[in-house]
Amino acid sequence: MTTTFDQLADDVLAGSPVTTDDALAVLRATDDELMSVVAAAGRLRRAHFGNAVKVNYLVDLKSGLCQENCGYCSQAVGSAAPILKYSWLSQDAALEQAGAGLNGGASRVCMVASGRGPSTRDIDKVAEMAGALKQRHPDVEICACLGLLQDDQAERLKAAGVDAYNHNINTAESHHHTIVQTHTYADRVDTVGKAKAAGLSPCSGLIAGLGESDEQLVEALFALRELGSDSIPVNFLLPFDGTPFENTWELTPARCLLILAMARFVCPDKEIRIAGGREVHLRSLQSIALHVANSIFLGDYLTSEGQAAEADLEMIRDGGFVVLGSEQDLAQRAEGPVIRRRGAGTDLLPNA
Ligand code: SF4
Repeated sequence: MTTTFDQLADDVLAGSPVTTDDALAVLRATDDELMSVVAAAGRLRRAHFGNAVKVNYLVDLKSGLCQENCGYCSQAVGSAAPILKYSWLSQDAALEQAGAGLNGGASRVCMVASGRGPSTRDIDKVAEMAGALKQRHPDVEICACLGLLQDDQAERLKAAGVDAYNHNINTAESHHHTIVQTHTYADRVDTVGKAKAAGLSPCSGLIAGLGESDEQLVEALFALRELGSDSIPVNFLLPFDGTPFENTWELTPARCLLILAMARFVCPDKEIRIAGGREVHLRSLQSIALHVANSIFLGDYLTSEGQAAEADLEMIRDGGFVVLGSEQDLAQRAEGPVIRRRGAGTDLLPNA
């Protein structure tokens, strides 16, 4: 039987984008409809990304000590969350951290620094680190996340070998003023535009669970589609004690799944990344979410711990997925399915 969501997936695959009403219907699917939504969104995921999961690794170059007042952020001015606080990692330390993530299976390293935006010296530092990282790991994809950009900074990062720039819009324009007052939604959009104009792949996403309405979640996804964000991190609010959002628990695992599915329907061919809050909010539905999203962070987040990297990789394997760029993925892409030439019918031992 063809479900409404299946039909919607057919339409999207045939090239007709979803409307805001369609997106709202996905977001408001009932528990009974949840698996139909996942199956339909999963068809879009597989059409564009097959069974590959892109694995990203965060390197927190500078933590805390920020003068901006983003209410959701444990690093913001006024936050009493007892997080690690430090100023810039040395280049050696940054490369060591990045190497650990790459050895663990990551293909993209996200170099992140807290703060409103980078100074010229900060850009120098990151440019140097990016050059050194590319020399050591030529295939690595580097994404920088350093805050609001000034003129020419994106071009300098691009020239240094940085591939992408992350700057989340975080929420709908109509909700933005309630979560931060030290900068505007327009400031954020401006930085995404600067990154894009410089030839960096724009990475911009959102945080769900900030008191936004369904309509505002849809508004945010349509804005990201409009902005041309190539990769869309979907964070689920971790309400740190000592921040304005402490004790704000609005999300359920099913709701998180529907948010990811809605993102997939609105932006079917974009990288949808399950970002911060994955373990806490999706809980036992994490592996099901991989049928909708095609990217995760490996290991720890900026100021909170994630599940063990081995558990992430196991979850990917258990679901029948492969890590993007892994030997298995490359073999699959180069040759199609690996034909069995061992075990029954051969002189070789079986793979068991
Ligand atoms: S600018 Fe970045 S680091 Fe600073 S408070 Fe906002 S999100 Fe946190």
